[in-house]
This record gives sequence, C-alpha cells and structure tokens, in this order.
Amino acid sequence: MSVLTENNRPQLMDGMGRTIVNLRISVTDRCNFRCTYCMPADNVEFMDRDKLLTFEEITRIVQVVSKMGIYRLRLTGGEPLLRKSLPVLVAMLAAVEGIEDVAMTTNAFFLKQQAQSLKDAGLKRLNISLDALDQDKFTEVNRRDCLTQVLEGIAEARRVGFKSIKINAVAVKNFSESEIIKLVEMGREQDLEVRFIEFMPLDADKIWERGKVLFGHEIVDIINKKYPLEPIKDSLEIGPASEYKFTDGKGKIGIITAVSNPFCDYCNRIRMTADGKLRTCLFSTNEHNLKELIRGGANDEEIENKIREALVIKEPGHKINLDDFERPTRAMHAIGG
Ligand code: SAM
Ligand code: SF4
Repeated sequence: MSVLTENNRPQLMDGMGRTIVNLRISVTDRCNFRCTYCMPADNVEFMDRDKLLTFEEITRIVQVVSKMGIYRLRLTGGEPLLRKSLPVLVAMLAAVEGIEDVAMTTNAFFLKQQAQSLKDAGLKRLNISLDALDQDKFTEVNRRDCLTQVLEGIAEARRVGFKSIKINAVAVKNFSESEIIKLVEMGREQDLEVRFIEFMPLDADKIWERGKVLFGHEIVDIINKKYPLEPIKDSLEIGPASEYKFTDGKGKIGIITAVSNPFCDYCNRIRMTADGKLRTCLFSTNEHNLKELIRGGANDEEIENKIREALVIKEPGHKINLDDFERPTRAMHAIGG
C-alpha cells in the first residue's frame, strides 16, 4: 500500500524519510564538447550504442516510477541533443500518466535546430550550460570554439517560447571570477536565472582539488558589490540552489553550493545512466542494474521492488568534505549531471 501526498500522488520515500519526486535520465554519455571539469580532452571511451536503453525501455521505467511517486523528469547526458530523434522520447515521456514535468540540461550547441520540435513534443524547461561569455575563456573551458552557437541556441529557445530557462555556470577558482558579472547581467537583461555551480570532484581528468572551487559565498560577494542581493528564504528545501533576489527587483540568481553547503538533507532525486543503471546519488559508488532486469523479462513489480530496495540505502549525503570520500568511477558525462 502506498502513502498519498496532499496532492493525491503516491509518496516515494527513501530510507532517510526524504520524498523522491525527481528522476534524471541520461540518454547518452557522448558529447560534442570536452569541458575541462567534466571530460578528458581526447581518447574518450564511449558506451557501445547497443548498451544504451532504447526509448521504449526508458519509457517503461518511467511508467513504473511514475506510479511510485516520481513526477518530474530531466533529460541529460553527455549531451542529450546528440541522441537521435530526442523529441520522440520527450513526447513518449510527456505522455506517461502522472508525469507533470519534462526538463532538459544541454550545452545548447544543437538547440537552434531542435528547440521548436522539443517544445512541440512537450519539453517544459531548459537548463543551458554557459560558463563564460568571453570567447577565449569559453573555448578554454569547453575546449570548443562554440560560444556563438550556444548564444544562438539560447535565443532560439526564447523565441519558440520556453518560459523557464536557467543558465548553469560551473564556478572554478581563478577562472570564473571575471565572467560572473557578465553572466549576471545577461540574466538580468534577458530574464534568465543564472545558477553558479561549485566545481565538484567529478571531472574525468581528476584535476579537482578544494583550492580550485570558487565557493558560493565568494560568488555572492562578487555579485553583491555591484547588484545587491537578498537571500530567498528556504530555497534549499525546494531545489539544489540557494536562491537570491536582486534588491532592485530585476530577477534572481541561484548558487549550487554542492561542496560548501550541500543540499543532501533535502535531496529529492535519483538518476539513471544511459546504460540503465540506477544511481541514488551523484556520488554513488554502487549502481543498480535496471537494464539487466528489463532485458531479462522482469515484470513491473520486480522493477519496482528493485528501485525500492535501492532507495532504502540511498546515501544520506556525499562525502566530499570527509576523509573517506571516494570518487565515483564514472566521470560526470557518463553519470548524467
Ligand atoms: N551536456 C549537458 C550540459 O553540459 O549542460 C548536460 C550534461 S552536463 C554533465 C550537466 C551539468 O553538469 C552541466 O550544467 C555541467 O556544467 C555540470 N557539470 C559537469 N561537470 C561538473 C563538475 N565537475 N562540477 C560541477 N558541475 C559539473
Ligand atoms: Fe559535455 Fe556537458 Fe560534460 Fe561539457 S558538461 S563535456 S557539455 S557533458
């Protein structure tokens, strides 16, 4: 018997009593960028295509989890727009009973071509990664000279009517400082919420160290000097970002203090890799093989039981700040950020 929330949805709880409503689905580990904080510059070994879940398999799992209480989905990767016919998957997922929100995180390179069909298919929200507005800095961090295409992608997403667009910028010490005000001003001018994410130890090159993280409080200090900010109360209980509004009323920003003040106590999400492994934390060191189950002919109840078993042992929090922190073997592009 499942407990119902006040909205009459089933309530899915983990072993710590956190309510899980969000599934992030990686649709590929491939990417056309090589961001320094995520992928190696070259010689990347990608998953064989037959190892990826098909659209039907992804939808099957979503049908199961939607009955358990998950109603928000986010497509990610790798670069999700590299997955052929992605709008077809969006339409399949948006049609699943109980799913209220299908969102996507993208580097926006292919968004100019695909924004309209994604919108038509039922995609509701977009997070677009953009770390620098200076052309050289963009190329340095993304290892691709593609700033123009990304800006065109954002413009097209706005043109076709995406209402909620967030800009994600990874904050790296001695690199991001000069870009913060430029990104904030772009957000204020175009009514986009810019979110700065503290650099996490998920980079394939393993260059992460604490000294390379530009911390949330340092970012707030930089912004506050030019555009005074006021914290939005309890924002960390709603999503991963601590949100601040500009005191002049011109929008807000978010800071994801994944290292300095993680939101683990309020975590409401699980993840599925492109090859069908359920991960209960971004930093999980073990995975639960859903692909094996569905390709082995499991029924819905068996899939549900496997997910519930995984949720009982969902990690209380990540251990970046502890001595026994262990890096996941997968880098960010293969997990699905
Ligand atoms: N390719 C898409 C993109 O870049 O938006 C989606 C996948 S990417 C892995 C998802 C998000 O993770 C992006 O916003 C990216 O900036 C962020 N990210 C990747 N590596 C990170 C790291 N080491 N620390 C913090 N954020 C990271
Ligand atoms: Fe690709 Fe996104 Fe990773 Fe950059 S952050 S390399 S765009 S998957």
